[in-house]
Amino acid sequence: MTDSPRIHLGSLLRSSEDAHAEGELNELTYEQGGKTHTLSFASPAFYEVDVNALGGQEMYLQGSFEPTLVMDCARCLRDVEVPMDIKLGTLMRYDPATDIPYLEEADTGEELLVFGDPNLDLSAYLAETTLLAAPLSVLHAPDCKGLCQVCGHDLNEGPCEHMAQVPVEEIDDELGIPEGTVHAKQNPFEALRGLKLPED
Ligand SMILES: [Zn+2]
Ligand SMILES: [Zn+2]
Repeated sequence: MTDSPRIHLGSLLRSSEDAHAEGELNELTYEQGGKTHTLSFASPAFYEVDVNALGGQEMYLQGSFEPTLVMDCARCLRDVEVPMDIKLGTLMRYDPATDIPYLEEADTGEELLVFGDPNLDLSAYLAETTLLAAPLSVLHAPDCKGLCQVCGHDLNEGPCEHMAQVPVEEIDDELGIPEGTVHAKQNPFEALRGLKLPED
């Protein structure tokens, strides 16, 4: 079931026949920057694509992909399931010299998927589209307390001995990790230290 998602475009290239593919994916494995990456899904993710000839070597892909992406909570790193419903719509161009399919920006500013193998592996395309649509960071709960910055204890499970030193309010909502707050800060007079008081 976790075969790579493929669509066969040979007939489309020969005789402009429309192509269709659908299936379910437990994960997506793709190559990027010379490394193999994996996107994991919480449950089998349904995809469906139709490709229509536009003439010449160009075609248009449309369809949908509905993965439930597994991401890390930005504060405590536990798994968070992020259901997504992605509409696919991308221009494509067949270029036999292309080794690995890639996305480029067309003159119109639209994304263009360039590929060279008519038995097209959609893994990288679906992975990139998913990553573009995914939130940058997620929390497993809005009030996640995060991990202790000193010992790594999951503060959602209760306080640790360092708890008093790292007030929850100081956890940065964007990054999840308070920057340099463990040893610095806590001292309300810290901000006054550099302040020159008027001498009279
Ligand atoms: Zn969390
Ligand atoms: Zn601790």
